Amino acid sequence: MNEHDSERISGLLEADGMAEANAMDEADVIVLNTCCIRENADNKLYAQLGQLKHLKKANPRLQIAVAGCLAQKDRDLIREKAGHVDVVFGTHNVHRAAELLTEARESGPIVEILEETAREDAAAFPSALPAKRESDFAAWVTIQIGCDNNCAFCIVPAVRGPEISREFAGLVTEVKALADVGVTEVTLLGQNVNSYGRDIQLARRQAGEDVRVRPLFGDLLRDVGAIDGIRRVRYTSPHPKDLRPETITAMAETDAVCEHLHFPLQAGSDRILAQMHRGYTGERFLEKLQEARAGVPDLAVTTDIIVGFPGETEDDFVRTLEVAAEARFDSAYTFVYSPRPGTEAAEWTDKFIPAEVTKDRMERLRTVIERSSRARHAERVGKTEIAAVFGPSKRDPDVMSGRTRQNKLVHFASDKPLKAGTYARVKIVDSGMHYLRGELLDITALPTHRTRIPVVSA
Ligand code: SAH
Ligand code: SF4
Repeated sequence: MNEHDSERISGLLEADGMAEANAMDEADVIVLNTCCIRENADNKLYAQLGQLKHLKKANPRLQIAVAGCLAQKDRDLIREKAGHVDVVFGTHNVHRAAELLTEARESGPIVEILEETAREDAAAFPSALPAKRESDFAAWVTIQIGCDNNCAFCIVPAVRGPEISREFAGLVTEVKALADVGVTEVTLLGQNVNSYGRDIQLARRQAGEDVRVRPLFGDLLRDVGAIDGIRRVRYTSPHPKDLRPETITAMAETDAVCEHLHFPLQAGSDRILAQMHRGYTGERFLEKLQEARAGVPDLAVTTDIIVGFPGETEDDFVRTLEVAAEARFDSAYTFVYSPRPGTEAAEWTDKFIPAEVTKDRMERLRTVIERSSRARHAERVGKTEIAAVFGPSKRDPDVMSGRTRQNKLVHFASDKPLKAGTYARVKIVDSGMHYLRGELLDITALPTHRTRIPVVSA
């Protein structure tokens, strides 16, 4: 979500007549787009602002802006700690980036933080913004902003506001427009994508409209997947408590939807899950996972896990290990619990887990994850996969890197460089914990975007 906001900020600055600088010390404007989901981002920001102070001395024209949810959380504190910052803005006024820089140039430093995005703005504004995409062929599409859940560890609802879904028809039009300019892969973004549309439905019902029980997230997958030119559809994140059978069916029946599910577990112990307010048990998580795997053959599953949530006992943690082992994840983002101001769990200071305990638990969890990661990758050897090439490998320019439908990194040699966005058929010959190695078979123009299901519109 944050990366996509950065693309939108770059797009706005470019539309305002700026061009990308080659290096920080050549820039006249530097925007630090921050995230406050975990604490180390705070520390990084202030360290970086310290470094930028020297640049500002060397180039007095330099404007420094701090954006994003950390800016929103710290607001005035940023200018107190770093007086050389010119503009501070949050996640709800990204669209003001260029104007705020101009205003600050004319009349001095500005801190502008909005508490929430108005529903009307949310509907129009992400698509109305010119985004400068990192990739020519892959694009993020925000389908929903904010979050209505109250996970005890999480600061997102406080900084991103309540859940607002963008209009179904507008989203489909937006993806069509992306396909027209050569985008073949889209990732639908939301904090809880399976509740997509719930708020629209409620608002219409309250307005006395006669509403059918849609649009749902599965409908969106089908309609986006049916757009000509769109070969891959991904999404993140589905909250395990809200993953519905319809979504699984839509995934299975829409060829363009990739065989990958990011399914954040957070913890395995029912006691901790309840304290987190996650709305599922370890058992229920595994059942849903089983349903998803049964419905979508060859499904890769990745996850997020938090270690050291306040009050986590050894037994609780062992249950996380058990559930993770049983789930056989393809990979996992593992996080040490980080108390976030204003969240419920941050109050439970007497239950905080000592750093040496979390360190030890983290190592044990990584061992479990590594085991399934290696095994899952090794299972791909001998298969033929389609790689969407994103460029030459970092280590060797003769080796191309791409992503398989399961979102696995794959490297393969090619006599000539392949353009980003090329779809290549590769035979997998080797694997590691985080990658596959393949041999190029041919370049594919397979129409993987066709769905077998008739298109339904909202
Ligand atoms: N909406 C998504 C999560 C978005 S935040 C969901 O509910 O699944 C991305 C990840 O950051 C979370 O899944 C969680 O594992 C991690 N995270 C969030 N707050 C955290 C905190 N306070 N400490 C450590 N990890 C955290
Ligand atoms: Fe945070 Fe929970 Fe919302 Fe995810 S679902 S963004 S973890 S509050």
